Amino acid sequence: MPGTRGDPFRQAVKPDLKSFLKPEIVARFAEWGEPAYRADQLLAWLYRRRATAWKQMTDLSKALCARLDEHFRLTSLELVRKQGAEESTQKFLWRMVDGALIESVLIPANPVLYGEASDRHTLCVSTQVGCAYGCRFCASGLDGWKRNLEPHEIVEQVMAIERWQAGMRGEGGGASGEPGSQGLHADDPGCKAEAAPLPAPRPSTLVAPRLVDNLVIMGMGEPLANYENLLKALAILNAPWGGAIGARKITISTSGLAPQIRRLADEPFQFNLAISLHGASDEVRSRIMPVNRKYPLNDLVAACEHYRDKKGRLLTFEYILIAGVNDAPEQVKPLAQLARRLNAKVNLIPYNRVEGLAWERPSDEVQEAFLAALERQKVKATLRREKGHEIDAACGQLRLRTEREFAGPAGTSRRGTRGAVAGPERNRTPSSRASGDAPGG
Ligand code: SF4
Repeated sequence: MPGTRGDPFRQAVKPDLKSFLKPEIVARFAEWGEPAYRADQLLAWLYRRRATAWKQMTDLSKALCARLDEHFRLTSLELVRKQGAEESTQKFLWRMVDGALIESVLIPANPVLYGEASDRHTLCVSTQVGCAYGCRFCASGLDGWKRNLEPHEIVEQVMAIERWQAGMRGEGGGASGEPGSQGLHADDPGCKAEAAPLPAPRPSTLVAPRLVDNLVIMGMGEPLANYENLLKALAILNAPWGGAIGARKITISTSGLAPQIRRLADEPFQFNLAISLHGASDEVRSRIMPVNRKYPLNDLVAACEHYRDKKGRLLTFEYILIAGVNDAPEQVKPLAQLARRLNAKVNLIPYNRVEGLAWERPSDEVQEAFLAALERQKVKATLRREKGHEIDAACGQLRLRTEREFAGPAGTSRRGTRGAVAGPERNRTPSSRASGDAPGG
């Protein structure tokens, strides 16, 4: 993977600085004859002040900034679209420097739908552009897999959201959702001329408070299929010098890549593990998740047991209820058996319709009956009840729709759509982060 294998400093293309761990940066600074504390200053600019350009780093010398610019890129994400009102679930569609689109979803701890507002937030991040796993109910895999995200593109989803929020609150923190602010040119008038009409970023880079407390790796893509880049990104987001998000506040979701689950168990991090199960028998699971043919339930459960034994962490099963597929009463018993065996909690998620797919969500009565039956089996379970299915709530759907619009005859060139799409929110209904989203696998 570019930027992560071999000597990352010898890449033909300049690597992005946010793909590097502190020891790597310290080593590079030592080669340059820079004292170690300069690395601390640089990291504070990257992760506390969320800077988007070298020239914002006012306590670094011009010579060091020029050297950094010679060897590294400093890219950020461009906000293309946003759905959802503040204090409800908000979906962000980002454009990366190569033009590819990804989604992140910001979920307040207490959506207004349920009561008090909260300043605690969970962010659901993407790890790939598209997905190769082709789960039958999922929008993310509809157009196949395009590429893995590099570590900095995963890290930057957190920074970009926080920058955006700081801009909204007028707290400073660098540019807010500006298009791919890069290197020494981020302050060029030309860059600003292309910016989407979002709240104007403040020029200062004051330390704005951390917005994201919890991370769920459940966005577009199968996280464990981008293993090295994901782990490096999470090491950065977990480090005290980086995102400072505790490992126990980070949940990785997978569609069931058994070997990678075992590998994850041997890592030093105490991440939470969620399994996108969606079927409690091989027959049902293989029908909707092709990955089950490669790693059937026996293999998957054995890998989960290994993870649980090594980490002592509770597991979660994500279970999208799809009408006529996995919502029958007969599914309850095998699901309960699996949950009890692994001491797993079950999150039931009513299916969110995906354009172009024929699946339906079960009625409210069927959903409630499924939950009650699970609880009678002494399984800890929750049912997501918010109304997110009116909009593009399914993971990958906003990206898919936007890409098709961009490619459509109505003619929205990339440049032409920039200003048009990031304006008023199109729908203010709180949306669930997913379903159909079985995100992250
Ligand atoms: S559910 Fe996850 S693994 Fe399956 S296609 Fe969607 S993103 Fe990929």
